Amino acid sequence: MKRASALNKLLLLVLLVNCLWGAARPDARAETGARPPVPDFIVVIDPGHGGGDPGVVGPGGFPEAGFTLALARQIRAILQIEPRVKVFLTRDEDESPDLDARASTANRLRADVFLSLHAGGGPAPSSVGFKVFFHDDRLQTPAVEAEAEARTGPPRIKSWRLAQQGHQASSKRLALELDRALSQVIRRKGDGPAGAPVAVLTGADRPAVLIEIGNLTRAEDEGRLSSQAYRDALTRAVLQGLDAWRRRAYGG
Ligand SMILES: [Zn+2]
Repeated sequence: MKRASALNKLLLLVLLVNCLWGAARPDARAETGARPPVPDFIVVIDPGHGGGDPGVVGPGGFPEAGFTLALARQIRAILQIEPRVKVFLTRDEDESPDLDARASTANRLRADVFLSLHAGGGPAPSSVGFKVFFHDDRLQTPAVEAEAEARTGPPRIKSWRLAQQGHQASSKRLALELDRALSQVIRRKGDGPAGAPVAVLTGADRPAVLIEIGNLTRAEDEGRLSSQAYRDALTRAVLQGLDAWRRRAYGG
């Protein structure tokens, strides 16, 4: 029974992804070569932490790094069913690429979107709920700026520190769509997405957001986030948010 119900769930997810992403393709009927091929929609997912950095650890021992990797793999497994969607992870093992390497992966692959996943409660560790952040360096503190410069070294052709600035409007819309979809599944913290100086997004030359999906230091969140069924619900919400953003950004 358990196996049958897991299969049913998977089938439902497959139907959902086919429905969402198939409908969004502007030329779903045009496979004859009469129109130019639609470029792949490339999603780079960054499972936060990993390796020697577990992130926050729940009272039962479930680490943030394990949650973010499990959720990223679930999202990839469903999204990559659609042939014109390509999904890459910044890490697929228990390892910890540095923050700039994570953003570089999105830049190198020319990602349409870059999602960094976390579950540590964000800047207020006692907080409850989820929050989607987009990078806003108007709030950049001199310390954060100095740290970014120390990491990136001498100026490059395009300043690493300014890479995300050209995508801020698009990243904000992406944050709004993900916020709307996730709020159907998990309690929202505050009034919706927030701008903040987010180090891992700073050098992303693509639309990019960071999602804090709850707070693993709370036993209640640890119980939910360690459940595959709950992560399935989060996966569906992320797919819906991405699809809504893609329709706005590219039409269809
Ligand atoms: Zn984190």
